[in-house]
Amino acid sequence: MKYQPTIGLEIHAELKTKTKMFCDSLNDPDEKHPNTNICPVCMGFPGVLPVINEEALKKTILVGFALNCQVARQTNFDRKNYFYPDLPKGYQISQYKRPLCANGWLEIGGKRVIITRIHLEEDAGRLQHDAKDNHSLVDFNRAGVPLMELVTDPDLNSAEEVKEFAEKLKLILKYLNASDANMEKGQMRVEVNISVKRKEQNEKENQKLGTKVEIKNLNSIRAAAQSVDYEIERQTELLEEGKEVKQETRGWDEAGQKTFSQRSKEEAHDYRYFPEPDLPVLNFGEKYLHLGDYYERVASELDTEANRLHQNQNEKAESHLPAKLHSLSANYVITEFPPLMQAKGMEIDDLEGFKISPEAFAELMVLVFHQKLSSTGAKAVLKEMAETGLHPEAIMKEKNLGQVSDTGELQKIVEEVIVKNSKAVEDYKKGKVEVIKFLVGQVMAATKGKANPSVAQEILTELLGL
Ligand SMILES: [Zn+2]
Repeated sequence: MKYQPTIGLEIHAELKTKTKMFCDSLNDPDEKHPNTNICPVCMGFPGVLPVINEEALKKTILVGFALNCQVARQTNFDRKNYFYPDLPKGYQISQYKRPLCANGWLEIGGKRVIITRIHLEEDAGRLQHDAKDNHSLVDFNRAGVPLMELVTDPDLNSAEEVKEFAEKLKLILKYLNASDANMEKGQMRVEVNISVKRKEQNEKENQKLGTKVEIKNLNSIRAAAQSVDYEIERQTELLEEGKEVKQETRGWDEAGQKTFSQRSKEEAHDYRYFPEPDLPVLNFGEKYLHLGDYYERVASELDTEANRLHQNQNEKAESHLPAKLHSLSANYVITEFPPLMQAKGMEIDDLEGFKISPEAFAELMVLVFHQKLSSTGAKAVLKEMAETGLHPEAIMKEKNLGQVSDTGELQKIVEEVIVKNSKAVEDYKKGKVEVIKFLVGQVMAATKGKANPSVAQEILTELLGL
């Protein structure tokens, strides 16, 4: 191809938290009654003060870790000023120069896409336009809901890559329980920045990008990919004809399967950003940073395994495995390490005396990932690792904690369980399918929690013939 597309993404995700970003109004995306989850803070009444939602901060940092980002040592919120009816305060609290997380990456198809930044802000309300009566209604339930914005470098080159990146990110957000990331519900919104340029022989000439077009209103990953294909074709045609590509924002017309001009560069806003005076500067000190460094070492250990998984994946359905391994590990670091350290009277910032090495921890995560160890078993091993500094496999063998996934071994136990629980088996055969849970429980009890429950259930249903 004579022309090369360059694509960067801006992705917003509503965080799954109990309350809103700066007040205690509920963050309930399923609330059907408009203007119910509101209060003077998110409605911008004079004299009120915002309070930062810690859960939202933690979830954004968790996403940052899973995406190999550096977490800021010091950060703050800024006011982004603009007037729109869905924004009751007349400004949005966002982050401008000092985002919470930066310089990360997500790998797709063997290629690292750089995550420029991830910052935290608040969502706006929802407008409903009634063309017939010529008026608009506004529902403020969504105003102030925690919103994470992720920006990538222009590292993508095709619709296929856009699709893969968005799908992988969506999976990580869901897996970390950071967001439900349902695009149809607007919980995840993708904006595409795309330019096309003629491929030049001269390397220096080749560095220059074409004119950038922004595409908005994409309510599915499919729409994002389709809009990219359409834009590549549209911009290439313009260049072929010797015409210029206009710098503008375009929308996606789902019915017509095409993009259309929304506004040009001349109408760009000056948001007059300034530091939010009602909120303190956030200092994470060494605390999270040490954990971040630790996690980076874990991540590089995991890469070997992730690459192996990547090479072995034949089926499309398994393309998310490496991402799943990383997010599993990030989740363990965030949720399991603090209580372990607390129990030993340690602070998160004195990892010096911490006996679990990143290498040994990565080994443990690979064992959990391959179901050689149940999550209960993993917690027991982790505790022992913190005490002794031994490697997980040694502890597993010594304490006999390995998860039994071996079909032959489990089959014998399952057969015994079936014989001993004839009443339950009878109920199951009569159609009370939920009894299967009880039977799996019996297998778990017989193996002292070591059986792999999904393998046990598979054997049960096979033997019971349903
Ligand atoms: Zn509120």
